[in-house]
Amino acid sequence: MDFNLSIEQLEMRNLVRNFAREVIAPRAAEIDETDEFPRDIVRQMGDLGMLGLPIPEQYGGVGADFVAYMMAIEEISYASAALGVILAVHTSVGSFPILYFGTEAQKQRYLPELASGRIIGAFALTEADAGSDAVAIRTRAVRDGDFYILNGSKVFITNGGEAGVYCVFAVTNPGRGARGITTFLVDADTQGFRVGKKEKKMGLHGSATCELHFDDARVPVKNRLGEEGQGFSIAMRLLDGGRVGIAAQGLGIARAALDAAYAYTRQRKQFGQELAQFQGVQFMLADMATKVEAARWLVYHAAQLRQEGADCTREASMAKLFATDTAMQVTTDAVQLFGGYGYIKDYPVERYMRDAKITQIYEGSNQIQRVVIARHLQPNQ
Ligand SMILES: Cc1cc2nc3c(=O)[nH]c(=O)nc-3n(C[C@H](O)[C@H](O)[C@H](O)COP(=O)(O)OP(=O)(O)OC[C@H]3O[C@@H](n4cnc5c(N)ncnc54)[C@H](O)[C@@H]3O)c2cc1C
Repeated sequence: MDFNLSIEQLEMRNLVRNFAREVIAPRAAEIDETDEFPRDIVRQMGDLGMLGLPIPEQYGGVGADFVAYMMAIEEISYASAALGVILAVHTSVGSFPILYFGTEAQKQRYLPELASGRIIGAFALTEADAGSDAVAIRTRAVRDGDFYILNGSKVFITNGGEAGVYCVFAVTNPGRGARGITTFLVDADTQGFRVGKKEKKMGLHGSATCELHFDDARVPVKNRLGEEGQGFSIAMRLLDGGRVGIAAQGLGIARAALDAAYAYTRQRKQFGQELAQFQGVQFMLADMATKVEAARWLVYHAAQLRQEGADCTREASMAKLFATDTAMQVTTDAVQLFGGYGYIKDYPVERYMRDAKITQIYEGSNQIQRVVIARHLQPNQ
């Protein structure tokens, strides 16, 4: 494995890192406190091309590679995990479905809008009774001439209420299980479609998480993505890339927590010396740094495979599992190293800890990642 970054990748990382540290980081606590979707920052990201990084230039994107895009999620998440997930969902599961499975007309219509940030993308699979078991979705789509009529509800949809187009999964053929699911591009102004309750969350404040409702929503046949029955396979193929993105988000959060803990333990004194002088503290920092480094290798290895077009289901799940478990462990240890101040909102580590928790749950919980990894085990790996 060779993770020497190209000049283009380094330039891109520096651009995103500077933006994240200069524009996002100073606002991160306020976004957490108000829980308001940071539209002005998202607009600036669009103007700078960050919402279309891996989208080809012919569709209005930057044409960056997948590794560069992962570095962008990591750097943005270092400053604000909420903006990290807004970017990751918009791109990995809001824009990529159209790039990979859309007709030329769908690409021409949506991708320039998405890549510029004029509209935001979203992905609507989960339902109240169908989370890990996504095949159990019940939202129905029935063909009626040049339209499909959608009925049902989705829950926990990131960018809900902010998105201009939703990639929605519905059942077109109830008896066929995974092969009975179809994907639709639902415009926000579709008749019969409405955004429901916005959830109040433990963390990730500023990212919108909403219910969606379809009451005889009329979606034109030209907005079907791929063929009837292809929906579940589209969802699973998107999730490989999506999971590496959430792994990169976890890596960014973990790095932020490690840096904060390192800096704090070098200035805070107890028993007449810096905390960082105590071997017990040094061992904690050493373990945190080692886990972050291991997570980095797993994330960039999976990203590299994904970029080469290789099968990376196993590696994507390993990266997601390890990097997000690392985020939870490292942020919890960072709170511990800050002592009582770690529990107080004047410092950022309690936010990192709250934000880290969701990375173990969404885009396939970490139990589900273990199921996937176990399914891909072979002799003599
Ligand atoms: C903030 C947030 C944002 C989200 N964004 C989106 C989005 O944009 N689009 C979208 O479609 N969804 C989204 N989700 C949904 C998310 O992907 C699901 O919450 C997740 O897949 C888990 O589903 P569930 O909540 O129904 O939990 P369940 O599936 O009910 O699982 C509950 C527990 O049981 C465990 N479990 C389930 N099955 C197994 C098994 N076979 N073996 C072992 N353990 C198992 C799970 O790991 C979990 O610990 C979001 C959720 C949140 C909270």
